[in-house]
Amino acid sequence: MNTPLQIAIDGPVASGKGDIAGRLAKELQLTYIYTGAMYRMLALACIEAGISTKDIDSVCKKLQQITISLMPPSSTSIHPFVAVLNDSDVTERIFKQDVAIGSSDVGTIPQVRQWMVARQQDMAHGKSVVMEGRDIGLRVLPNAQLKIYLTASLEERAHRRWLQFDAKGIKKTHEEVLSDTKLRDHQDTTRVTDPLQKLPDAWELDTTGMNQEDVVARIKEELIKRNLL
Ligand code: C5P
Repeated sequence: MNTPLQIAIDGPVASGKGDIAGRLAKELQLTYIYTGAMYRMLALACIEAGISTKDIDSVCKKLQQITISLMPPSSTSIHPFVAVLNDSDVTERIFKQDVAIGSSDVGTIPQVRQWMVARQQDMAHGKSVVMEGRDIGLRVLPNAQLKIYLTASLEERAHRRWLQFDAKGIKKTHEEVLSDTKLRDHQDTTRVTDPLQKLPDAWELDTTGMNQEDVVARIKEELIKRNLL
């Protein structure tokens, strides 16, 4: 059997990880694993139960009571995955703002990270995958053949998020989106356990001013250069 091709993509909020990983997985026929969805599902379970996402003990207890899974999408789905929390499809719900902020909170809890990393390693075991998140190259797939640190300027990332909200009819000012992006960047890069960082062995790709096709093409070029394609 050939060695599975494992690609780790890490990067800050709205660096384009999701769209790029989804496209790359489709083009190269790899399994796409969006780890942020798992933190988001835990945050959603807490919110629905009236638990503060900052209450470590209650969040950890909740984690033991729920089931979280990522399924392949139907052919008509606009998302490259289906997020299933306790048998319910929560794919749309996890992109709401309360869940986004809550996911960043639960992601600061070391016990939560340990549980998530173990599950994610099981999910990727023996498979060719594109996995994206914040600690993939560092913790989940330290032996990935290509580790990508995907980034873009803060202003461009905030603008991309504003466009996503606008497309969904969600009214927000640019200032609101910028300040929320900064807050999540701050939490993700300063938390004690496995903060988001560019690893020494990661290949950095700054996507400021690039469209998705160009980014995917650039990654494929890099894979070819490294004899991985
Ligand atoms: O990737 P996404 O922005 O959807 O992730 C939501 C949140 O989950 C992030 O802000 C981050 O705090 C947390 N997360 C994480 N580690 C991962 C994936 C996501 O801490 N591997």
